[in-house]
Amino acid sequence: MKSWGAMNNGDLHNERPLTGLFPADGSPLGIDDYEKAGGYSALEKALQTAPADITNEVKASGLRGRGGAGFPTGQKWTFVPMDGPGGKAPSPRDIISNSDEMEPGAFKDRLLMENNPHQIIEGLAIAAHAVGAEKGYIFLRREYGEAKDRLGAAVAEAYGRNYLGNNIMGSGFSLDVKLHVSAGRYICGEETALLNAIEGKRAIPRSKPPYPQLTGLWGEPAVVDNVETLSCLPHIISRGADWFKGLSHTGEGGTKIYTVSGRARNPGWWELPMGTTIRELLYDHAGGMQDGYNFRGVIPGGASTDFLLEEHLDIRMDFSSMQKAGSRLGTGTMIILDDRTCPVGVVHNLMQFFARESCGWCTPCREGLSWLRDILRAMENGAGEMGDLDILEEHTRLLSPGHTYCALAPGAVEPLQSALKYFRADFEAHIQNKKCPWKT
Ligand code: SF4
Repeated sequence: MKSWGAMNNGDLHNERPLTGLFPADGSPLGIDDYEKAGGYSALEKALQTAPADITNEVKASGLRGRGGAGFPTGQKWTFVPMDGPGGKAPSPRDIISNSDEMEPGAFKDRLLMENNPHQIIEGLAIAAHAVGAEKGYIFLRREYGEAKDRLGAAVAEAYGRNYLGNNIMGSGFSLDVKLHVSAGRYICGEETALLNAIEGKRAIPRSKPPYPQLTGLWGEPAVVDNVETLSCLPHIISRGADWFKGLSHTGEGGTKIYTVSGRARNPGWWELPMGTTIRELLYDHAGGMQDGYNFRGVIPGGASTDFLLEEHLDIRMDFSSMQKAGSRLGTGTMIILDDRTCPVGVVHNLMQFFARESCGWCTPCREGLSWLRDILRAMENGAGEMGDLDILEEHTRLLSPGHTYCALAPGAVEPLQSALKYFRADFEAHIQNKKCPWKT
């Protein structure tokens, strides 16, 4: 087993603040080792700092939410009313860790939960103090059993040392945290569906506005932040916004946990400066393509983002650069498409997932995604017609942002719309030859 001393050799923790302390044997970093590495000192500092100053520091750090949408974290907190009639702000308030990671190919939050759960708890407590929340929830998907056990044990340890509970470290600030294990649906990752699920209701998105920061859990103001986002907070508070910004290759602060799956030689995960290029990730870290496979494209930010091509390999993986290139950073979960895999089959596979996970609340998504799935399945089975391409294209427009109740459907059609643009000849070959060219 690698010793903690070897892990805490400065550089690792400086360059890879989120993952540099992961024990090499896959066990979770315990509270003693976390404390020795400076853990919970950021919370102590935060509790001696005015909430508005914490929020300003997080704003200055350039931290953008790591759950996929990339909204600036500090700015999101400013929407929580900290004052009210007669100087009394609405309370109680809630802080929630969105740990409902479920998109195909995504596992970066699981890494953080399983290997350094105290970092998340400390981040949650810092965020709670910043927005004046007294109650905290960690909303976890049911299938993450290991994360549940490790987080549950870490929450108990944190209570034992008064990092949670009443009058934390004598500061006068109190926070109770509950681990909420959901029944598990993809839509629970949408923050208002998540709130409904905690309330014991059907997990469907709510109409916005009002936003959760005003009317969240049981009508109380609530902030929902992603696991990786929360994990950044102790480092921002202890080392400052400028240090955090300096970790990045671009103006979007910090590091990012990127993952690579598909026919790369060495698929896996890496914590790297925000703005690392796709080429560097694939060739320097993931070892390039496996023998006998050539790069054809990449879904760069998780299953709900647009394909990019070879010409995009030097694009920086941050929120703004990816958007300019016609895709999204999303969760930073790269899925490589090689030249021996059918792009129509890939899109069909993803559409099966999204159609199944549609919550059914609005008609375009409920009916549209399953229709798209059926058309793609027919194409794969040699029963596609040329007119289907128009139907597919029309649906990518009908299910674009603004046409459905939440972002699930627009995200679901992103791989399809870009596949139709970049791999149209493959779709046509399926129809003309009445079979999938990759199937013998
Ligand atoms: Fe539900 Fe889909 Fe409508 Fe979102 S877009 S509310 S997931 S039916």
